[in-house]
Amino acid sequence: MPSHRIYLPGSTIGVMGGGQLGRMFAIAARRMGYRVHTFSPQEDTPTGQLADLEVAARYDDAEKVREFARGIDVLTFEFENVPTQTVEWAAEFCEVRPSANVLHICQHRLREKQFLAGAGLPLPRFMPVANADELGEALQHLGTPAVLKTAAFGYDGKGQRKIERREDPAKVWESFGGSHAVLEQFVDFEKEVSVIVARGVDGRMAAYPVCENLHRNHILDVTVVPAGIPAEVDMQARVLAGEVAEKLDLVGLLAVEMFLLKDGALLINELAPRPHNSGHFSFDASVTSQFEQQLRAVCGLPLGSTESLRPAAMANLLGDLWAKGEPNWAAAAAMPHVKIHLYGKAEPRSGRKMGHLVAFGNSTEEAMHRALEARAALLKTAAPAAKRRATAKSTR
Ligand code: AMP
Repeated sequence: MPSHRIYLPGSTIGVMGGGQLGRMFAIAARRMGYRVHTFSPQEDTPTGQLADLEVAARYDDAEKVREFARGIDVLTFEFENVPTQTVEWAAEFCEVRPSANVLHICQHRLREKQFLAGAGLPLPRFMPVANADELGEALQHLGTPAVLKTAAFGYDGKGQRKIERREDPAKVWESFGGSHAVLEQFVDFEKEVSVIVARGVDGRMAAYPVCENLHRNHILDVTVVPAGIPAEVDMQARVLAGEVAEKLDLVGLLAVEMFLLKDGALLINELAPRPHNSGHFSFDASVTSQFEQQLRAVCGLPLGSTESLRPAAMANLLGDLWAKGEPNWAAAAAMPHVKIHLYGKAEPRSGRKMGHLVAFGNSTEEAMHRALEARAALLKTAAPAAKRRATAKSTR
């Protein structure tokens, strides 16, 4: 029987993982008077920079995990690929929300799909594949094109390969290099959408408006909210996300990525039991951000309103934007309807999520236009800042 205990402001929340999701969670939690401790294998992480305490240790270091858990009231996650054993060590000393079971399901693509199928929820047709022969059989069964994905989670499209007609399963399997995989029918979708839903200790739920997501190179590029979909599909998507949360017996936040087909049907692509990149708009554009909602859910507080204040668009800022030097922040800041978020990451590698922009508008089209315009402005040649400082000094 899961605990219904409530943790009030002043309590200490532990976050496993040190990325930007934990960073924004820490901002929300500290604003509401909570303390935040973070645990991850790295130092000076995006979360650690804002936490009261940062512990850099391995997830398989039992003593460090137990010591961390002794210092917190509730443990939550900004990263679901934490070993189950780690969560169990922590659970000896603190509340864990969402549960180890939810993490166990959501950190493995095959388990996740089997859970969804078992619960009677809609998803693309799939088959487990463990060797070249099984891949051949699955291709026969599901047809082509199809998508081969590693069973253990990759992220942002890593560990995925589209298979076209007439490809040799043995060659595909050899080059894929995964030991366990899932073959999935290729879905000719109309749109990709996601719903973020929170579920509290009392089973009450609150879903955000449906997000419409545009990907580039398998990485989320732009999200607009509300999605340009009919009202009944919007309702259906939110109900579906709620059903998943209920079947998982979730306490916390869940992002449900879905494919919307031309006939209006929805298929679930992926689950994440934590805040999600497509929900970043909520930090600026919702009554309650997804991060505050995660906090409320895991602390046993009533959930906040998920109402949107304005149509909004979010554009990711990947490390590639730094290729020719520091982006022109002043140019984006000059746009009054744009908010700049940066994650404090020192190294701008290609494809690495470094930050994002959120823009508001009177319509999603206007918001998207502003977000993209601001992102393009980041590449304009900036007036050389260092030189200006030197000039100022010399005239003093
Ligand atoms: P995933 O890591 O599974 O979320 O996949 C990353 C992206 O690849 C998705 O957001 C889609 O754009 C695309 N994708 C994944 N699976 C499929 C599929 N079965 N059919 C079509 N596109 C897919």
